Amino acid sequence: MEGALTARDRVGIQDFVLLDETTEAAFLTNLKKRFSKDLIYTYVGTLIVSVNPYKELDIYSKKQMDTYMGVNFFELPPHIYALADNAYHTMLTEFNNHFILISGESGAGKTEASKKILQYYAVSCPSTTLLNTVRDKMLMSNPVLEAFGNAKTLKNDNSSRFGKYMDIQFNSEGDAVGGHILNYLLEKSRVVHQNHGERNFHIFYQLVEGGTDDLLRQLGLERGVQHYNYLTQGECAIVSSINDRNDWKTVKNALQVINFDEINTNHLFGIVASVLHLGNIQFDSDSKGHALLNDNTELHWLLGVDVQNLQEGLTFRKIEAKKDQVLTPFTTDHAIYARDALSKAIYGHTFTWLVNRINESMENKVRVFDLFAFFSSFEQFCINYCNEKLQQLFIQLTLKAEQDEYEAENIEWEPVQFFNNKIICDLVEEKHRGIISILDEECLRPGDATDLTFLERLEDKMGNHPHFVTHKLADKMTRKTLERGDFRLLHYAGEVTYCVVGFLDKNNDLLYRNIKDLMCQSKNAIVKECFSTMDPDSRKRPETVATQFKSSLLKLTEILMAKEAWYIRCLKSNESKQPGQFDEALIRHQVKYLGLMEHLRVRRAGFAYRRKFDVFLKRYKPLCPATWPHWRGEPADGVEVLVQHLGYLPHEYKMGRTKIFIRHPRTLYATEDAYEK
Ligand code: ATP
Ligand code: MG
Repeated sequence: MEGALTARDRVGIQDFVLLDETTEAAFLTNLKKRFSKDLIYTYVGTLIVSVNPYKELDIYSKKQMDTYMGVNFFELPPHIYALADNAYHTMLTEFNNHFILISGESGAGKTEASKKILQYYAVSCPSTTLLNTVRDKMLMSNPVLEAFGNAKTLKNDNSSRFGKYMDIQFNSEGDAVGGHILNYLLEKSRVVHQNHGERNFHIFYQLVEGGTDDLLRQLGLERGVQHYNYLTQGECAIVSSINDRNDWKTVKNALQVINFDEINTNHLFGIVASVLHLGNIQFDSDSKGHALLNDNTELHWLLGVDVQNLQEGLTFRKIEAKKDQVLTPFTTDHAIYARDALSKAIYGHTFTWLVNRINESMENKVRVFDLFAFFSSFEQFCINYCNEKLQQLFIQLTLKAEQDEYEAENIEWEPVQFFNNKIICDLVEEKHRGIISILDEECLRPGDATDLTFLERLEDKMGNHPHFVTHKLADKMTRKTLERGDFRLLHYAGEVTYCVVGFLDKNNDLLYRNIKDLMCQSKNAIVKECFSTMDPDSRKRPETVATQFKSSLLKLTEILMAKEAWYIRCLKSNESKQPGQFDEALIRHQVKYLGLMEHLRVRRAGFAYRRKFDVFLKRYKPLCPATWPHWRGEPADGVEVLVQHLGYLPHEYKMGRTKIFIRHPRTLYATEDAYEK
């Protein structure tokens, strides 16, 4: 049994709350010890810390799942199954909603954890044939979403380039009866640009590598991945660690399970193919420098639009002045911009459409929330803001949950103070004064607004904010570390420097009107549907990307505040994806920014442990002759007798209404020790 002295020496402690000291060093030593024994999960109370092993472990079998079903949280070695099971049973007994928040940096194991939790529910929940179909769809939506939303990056061969929030609805019998997925901020820029060593979204390669000759001929894609500009920028279209052909089969099969008929499937792949064709369009320039379109025969029929109109849309801007239409020719740069904007729009809308379709097929609550990690500037800004909001939620819920429990159990306690990151959330999101508002104003300002004028406006408004600095505002020392086009935010997790280039453009996410109109007339049903639903009042300016993101985050935090939270914090063990390597510096950094030490201190500041009287009694009654083998009175009285016998001092514990609260882990630890002997 872990927790006993011998076990503790051998495999470390299974709950950090039981550590003798709350230093970072002790924390890391324990984590490392466990990692070396392939024990990748450790608790901090009910939170799970997970370290990516980068190798298959034999801990996810059906047998393992069975072991965890209906078992008390601390009875078995830490596992995400224990957390999943507890959330599920608490939901059923207390009739409330729960969510599981999985966070960590890119490659830390968030997506894997979320899949394992889904699998656990798929196996462990009671089943009937009818409900099995919902379950299958829920499981099968994963490969489809990953094909369209994941890509190889430098950090992770299967990196999620969108945030996913998945809802599973259970009925009162505990059957999974429905599911719903919310997606956040797909990294659309990847469709047209990839950094060296990175790829576009998996689906493009899967189609070109795995599609049958017939299909590829139909789509005009017979020439192999090396032929497409959108697939080769990272110079790693084919990588040995990814088997696109096999993955293609999985995706095709999954599409069937989630009810995609042949027509829809054809339209869908028509779109994927048309994006590749768009990427291959080249523009020549005439003697005046105006863009001319090289012929691309496949494109217009794949998109289902008139060839003349498409050519016009990509090389001219149409401005309607009263009754007149003015066509202004593009330069080649402009034309490339318009082409890429169209590719991003088509792909982005199709992704949203796909998620909606999957949702429809699962229509009929535990929530699983798999976050994402970005690196490029504007997206990184949005996602760090998201993490900032979730950290605030974490602070509020952890403290709130703790306070509620003490109140419910009638226990006095001193609230713990710790850094509140509200000041940083405000810096980003405050109305009229926050960074997003200023960015929107610059985006709307007619005339000469640029990324750099945006930066100047920030400098004017944020001048002496303690969490904001730029080259101009910095002191001498700091200035050396900043470029002129940068601003730096002091996030709760540490400093991040953002380069403003592209901020206005990505926030605006504009698509020229005539191209938009053209897409609305497409013969491809998916394209038509996507673009027709964009903005019904086309005169009204659509909300900017950052503002949309902000509203969806606010909505989400509101929903989550009303639910009970479970946390999985994923840590990346090393940068080179090697099994068994524990990079201490890298892990220390993550422990810091995930707020694990803070969380541990909060857990220990009040009462480190609490157990229901009957549970406590059942476990430890062999330690006292008066309670062994049976205690015939009230469990609370039995616990009192038991702890008196064990020599607990009055300040070491408190009796609540239904639970015993133990202040120091040492106390319980000694009891565990005695239990072991
Ligand atoms: P991103 O933010 O880039 O989406 P992520 O946190 O979702 O990253 P994953 O895709 O879940 O990261 O994990 C990256 C890789 O690490 C996986 O493809 C797998 O090889 C390995 N891995 C993660 N978790 C586990 C695990 N529990 N057991 C074995 N291997 C794992
Ligand atoms: Mg992921």
